Amino acid sequence: MISSVVVLGGGSAGLMAALTLKRKLPQLQVRVIRSPDIGVIGVGEGTTASFPRHFFEYLNLDAREFYADAQPTWKLGIRFLWGPRDDFFYTFSKEYEQRWPELRRNVGFYHDENLRFVGPISALMAHDKAFAKNPDGMPNLHRNHAFHIENIKLVGYLETVCRKVGVSITDGNMTQAEIGAIRVAGREERGVTALLLASGERVTADLFIDASGFRSELLGRALGEPVRDFSDALFCDRAVIGGWTRTDEPIRPYTVAETMESGWCWQIEHEHWINRGYVYSSRFIDDDAARVELLAKNPKISNEPRVVKFRSFHSKRIWVGNVVGIGNASGFVEPLEATSLQVISVQTSTLADALVDALQEPTPTMIDCFNRYHSTQWNDIRDFLAVHYAFNTRLDTPFWQTCRRDIALGEAQQVVDFYQENGPSALLSGIILHPTNSFGLEGYLALLVGQNVPYAKRYHPSIAEAQAWKDRCAIYNVNAQQAMSVKECLQSLRKVGWIKAT
Ligand SMILES: Cc1cc2nc3c(=O)[nH]c(=O)nc-3n(C[C@H](O)[C@H](O)[C@H](O)COP(=O)(O)OP(=O)(O)OC[C@H]3O[C@@H](n4cnc5c(N)ncnc54)[C@H](O)[C@@H]3O)c2cc1C
Repeated sequence: MISSVVVLGGGSAGLMAALTLKRKLPQLQVRVIRSPDIGVIGVGEGTTASFPRHFFEYLNLDAREFYADAQPTWKLGIRFLWGPRDDFFYTFSKEYEQRWPELRRNVGFYHDENLRFVGPISALMAHDKAFAKNPDGMPNLHRNHAFHIENIKLVGYLETVCRKVGVSITDGNMTQAEIGAIRVAGREERGVTALLLASGERVTADLFIDASGFRSELLGRALGEPVRDFSDALFCDRAVIGGWTRTDEPIRPYTVAETMESGWCWQIEHEHWINRGYVYSSRFIDDDAARVELLAKNPKISNEPRVVKFRSFHSKRIWVGNVVGIGNASGFVEPLEATSLQVISVQTSTLADALVDALQEPTPTMIDCFNRYHSTQWNDIRDFLAVHYAFNTRLDTPFWQTCRRDIALGEAQQVVDFYQENGPSALLSGIILHPTNSFGLEGYLALLVGQNVPYAKRYHPSIAEAQAWKDRCAIYNVNAQQAMSVKECLQSLRKVGWIKAT
């Protein structure tokens, strides 16, 4: 019976794990141990829509408290400066897959190359607007939004909420994990028997969460769980990051992903700070040249850009014996779709639900299915990102030539094959992709149509249908023009005390 949990790590993964477990199983004793010397990664500023759903729907946390402490801005999706078009939008809502009564096919077929939007959310993005205005002047916070949040502010907020719900937090360095025989799910296995801290304390628990970041102290170092390496599809392994204080630039309601010579560059929008990060492959460019390219594109950068190294991988199993890996300790892919906080939300919620359903005595089949599910999640992300790299024709540099030539699409190959033969049909989405794929066919259509990937069966709508589509787009356009910008939304929430005065 699991009644005590120790979480190693106080970054966003460790604190989200502790919070989720304590919130869903208040009877559990949950303790976080985090090193003040190692600190947290300090990057990770974009989320997907699963993040607010995890916090406000699954955990039912107070949104006001979150806004006050984490100080987010809103992100409706990603604007890709990618492929042959000037740009295209990826949203968190279903737009390309949508079917309308006046149109014979799903929206993907009607997208023309001059049109920047295909639905209400991409229309908002095209106009730099975030939400429609309610009659009381407040933004109508639709469900298809995510956030831009500074990692340090998120960690600060999580710490406050963790303490409030009864999680204990200890500053301390773990110097050794004791390994020995333990009983889990009725089986004798190798597991962690205790953590030894530099203070001399020996910490025991029924379940250990490894949230120690890239160090992967328990899952990787102590238990030696093998990993699947993603470097056959994801060549980038570093980022150089800088930014500047916002002056008169509008706060955009999306992350920009811009093609660079040996990778791509994000632009993330905080209220007072603009954050740029060039994600690149060290096989094709060195750190100094990457820094020079970043600064040439962004002459406003005012701080000294810092380089962060990473690798793309996942642990074959994330639940091994009495250890569950969460966050970077269990896997990582580069932030092109900003998926890490989404992965952490899914990992922590499935762990909490598994413990609830198993009456805190997880069975072998529960643990096996948990591991298979998370392995599938990682592979889905890897395959989807591969599609971003394999079809981007914007630049002809050695990096992009190699991506187009060498990237293995994995399971995404069958989606691409279907699309190339049948066009952007959403008819069989549940068959082409399994239902737990977090991007869905919608995500693939946004990327394939957005990058002008050719397909065989071009559809030419009748004049009446083309007019019906135009009329629909005209409505999206007018609604988007009348909606509120991020700045206006922040001002209105500040008036009612949701956001602190600056
Ligand atoms: C370049 C880059 C950009 C990113 N962008 C995004 C993004 O846009 N969106 C997104 O969702 N994610 C992004 N991420 C990922 C995101 O930053 C992390 O996945 C997320 O913050 C979780 O980090 P973590 O908690 O696993 O690790 P960390 O923040 O590194 O925390 C590890 C914790 O473990 C503790 N620890 C480690 N060893 C010990 C020890 N021996 N004893 C005690 N404590 C120990 C540390 O002190 C720390 O508290 C990005 C990552 C990178 C590298």
